[in-house]
Amino acid sequence: MKKIAVLTSGGDSPGMNAAIRAVARAAVFHDIECYGVYRGFQGLIEGDYELLTARSVKNLIQKGGTFLKSMRCEGFRTREGRENAFNQLKKHEIDGLIVIGGDGSFRGASLFGSEFDFPVIGIPSTIDNDVQGTDFSIGFDTALNTVVEAIDKIRDTASSHNRLFLVEVMGRDAGNIALNAGIGAGAGEILIPEQKIDFEELLEALDKHKATGKSSNIVVIAEGDQTGKNISELAGQIQQQRKEYDVRVTVLGHIQRGGSPSCYDRVLASRLGVAAVDALMNGETKVMTAVVHGKIITVPFGDKTELHLNKNEELMRVAKIISI
Ligand code: ADP
Repeated sequence: MKKIAVLTSGGDSPGMNAAIRAVARAAVFHDIECYGVYRGFQGLIEGDYELLTARSVKNLIQKGGTFLKSMRCEGFRTREGRENAFNQLKKHEIDGLIVIGGDGSFRGASLFGSEFDFPVIGIPSTIDNDVQGTDFSIGFDTALNTVVEAIDKIRDTASSHNRLFLVEVMGRDAGNIALNAGIGAGAGEILIPEQKIDFEELLEALDKHKATGKSSNIVVIAEGDQTGKNISELAGQIQQQRKEYDVRVTVLGHIQRGGSPSCYDRVLASRLGVAAVDALMNGETKVMTAVVHGKIITVPFGDKTELHLNKNEELMRVAKIISI
């Protein structure tokens, strides 16, 4: 390994900059040249590269987003696009690629690695924490802290007026943000994509809370919850059937993606970045660096073995017990 490239792809998340910095510095440490690729796979296809030095990645560890920019790239889904990317890498004499992103980016990277026998390593980075094979992805912890801080503020007004607040958080397919932030912020109910709950059950649960003396309540709802209604419809129907509630809706939206990364995410990004360069030097390919039971390991892209599956059952049980 003499020259490597690093890019960020898919949805951005806080800590991506810290991961780029770690990759660039680990490369310099091992006498490897490291190129930053702008705009994800699009920049890879277009040859939009810049040499990164230990100093050019200074003052980045605390910054949210990604200075290399991230985007979705339709061209990389085609054989022709991936071939152009390969030709650009060859032209720049690059021997290995590190992709910082989520599942979608790793599918593309895996295909690319197989088609051109090109070494690729992934670094899981997504606020949703939905990459199977790692206990945590970069950005998740920061997003949780953002959500909990916002709900704490909502709670102040909820309890001052005996209101029922429905708070929507990100998570179309995975309830990790809703479940963890819901527990952390003391939500009464948490609705996630992985668990079916119908409208009547929700009303029953809310009534139960009221009967035990809860005057205000917060329900945290992941975007992809299974009620089959959007949050405004849900609020309207609760209001219609339970006139005594003062129901309010808050959609947290994109504030969940931004902000300075938490210390946990900075440390995780640094560990996963250093490990990704190690993996390339060790001749590994089509794996991502991951944290499993506190240890940094490499896991093949798309690994679905039992050991590497995130399990939420225990969290669901905790949420149920502590919200009575
Ligand atoms: P994330 O990495 O956050 O899951 P996406 O699913 O949007 O983000 O994927 C990011 C990019 O990865 C896509 O825009 C595309 O360029 C590439 N990609 C995703 N899936 C594939 C695939 N099956 N084949 C080739 N490239 C893919």
